[in-house]
Amino acid sequence: MRPEGCAMWSRKRLDIGWSDLLFGVSRVCFPPHRKTAAAHLERLWPADEHTLACLSVRSGFDLLLGALELPHGSEVLVSAITIPDMIRIIEQHGLVPVPVDLDPQRMTPTLDQWWQAITPASRLILAAHLFGARTEMEPVLDLARRHGLMVVEDCAQAFAGAGYQGHLQADASMFSFGTIKASTALGGAILRIGDRRLLARMQTAQAAYPVQGRWPYLQRLAKCAVLKGLACRPICGLFIRACQAIGCDYDRLVNHAARGFSAADFFVQIRRQPSASLLAVLAHRLQGYDSRRLERHVANGRALAALLQETVSCPGAAVAPHTYWVFPILIDEPRRLIEHLARAGFDATQGHSLCVVRPPAGLGQRAIAAERMLAKLVFLPFYPELPVRESLRMADVILEAAGERKRENREKRGQNYSSGESF
Ligand SMILES: *Cc1c(COP(=O)(O)O)cnc(C)c1O
Repeated sequence: MRPEGCAMWSRKRLDIGWSDLLFGVSRVCFPPHRKTAAAHLERLWPADEHTLACLSVRSGFDLLLGALELPHGSEVLVSAITIPDMIRIIEQHGLVPVPVDLDPQRMTPTLDQWWQAITPASRLILAAHLFGARTEMEPVLDLARRHGLMVVEDCAQAFAGAGYQGHLQADASMFSFGTIKASTALGGAILRIGDRRLLARMQTAQAAYPVQGRWPYLQRLAKCAVLKGLACRPICGLFIRACQAIGCDYDRLVNHAARGFSAADFFVQIRRQPSASLLAVLAHRLQGYDSRRLERHVANGRALAALLQETVSCPGAAVAPHTYWVFPILIDEPRRLIEHLARAGFDATQGHSLCVVRPPAGLGQRAIAAERMLAKLVFLPFYPELPVRESLRMADVILEAAGERKRENREKRGQNYSSGESF
């Protein structure tokens, strides 16, 4: 069971090749004309007259809320799990984020849960496709239409190449190419905006922003090269051990390195236009997109889910279409399983980037199912570079650990029972 030495499958592999990084460096040194690069990129999305390239999804969402000018205190219904910055942006615009709890199997609120959360102050639904599982939009769009609400799809975790580029009836669909996302360009986002007048207002606002410098972009390329190096199987294990030896929190270190914007002057940082170099790299990534690689990965994801599902819960795994951008499972004692997996050479993590949205004082209810789920979530190392035989070995470790726990529970119950009886 134990692999040689301390070789370790890292929790994450950045989805970008060395040749893409080199291409990036060349575009930092010889940047194209920015407006031409933006137009070229937007033409790669169907209906470029509805498309806007931004520095990040957070930048684009901030532009969208700015251009909408919703009345102060309007409620935004959000699927209860997302990244904290999305909530921060909603609040910055004087709006009230109201969490809507999720159905853990499908990783999205049920139609009834959306419906129950609607009040006269509701204006907008922000629905996230989590983990790569793309949920059905039609029922939500229908419901929203009946109540006069707008619908924004957060597709940051669900990019699937030309397979999906936003629902045509959604008011906005947002795709992220940030560092940890699929097909990353180390930043950048593409938004599809339904209403062209709204898009025009967003374009005008964005045109007044300063442009992201190309040297900060070069820094990102360099950081990414380091993270890629550290994720190599022989190096990853050594690096984790070194961190432990000097008492450094490896999880936070990696999260910090992959993060796009620092917390301090967050809005100054997101309110920038993407650099010409970034736009060129993003276009390069879209044009070079390998859909066969995705297909193979999806098939492996389905196979892994089929192996595990009888014994452990795999949230969202049954949803189709699914890209398995990440592969989470729910487990009672996450720390224990993580240690088990580490001993077998798999670097799983509880993840620290997602949060459960808290309801505003006096409004709505806590998203209990989401809270319970997040506490039990373990993200497995799962990416196209993980060979099938290794993913089978990982499944064995998980099933064995879960089986052991079940046996222990049974024994505990047996003890209680027999002690009760002897009394
Ligand atoms: C990553 C992510 C975002 C933000 O994307 P950026 O392009 O980095 O701003 C938004 N929502 C969800 C659910 C995400 O996972």
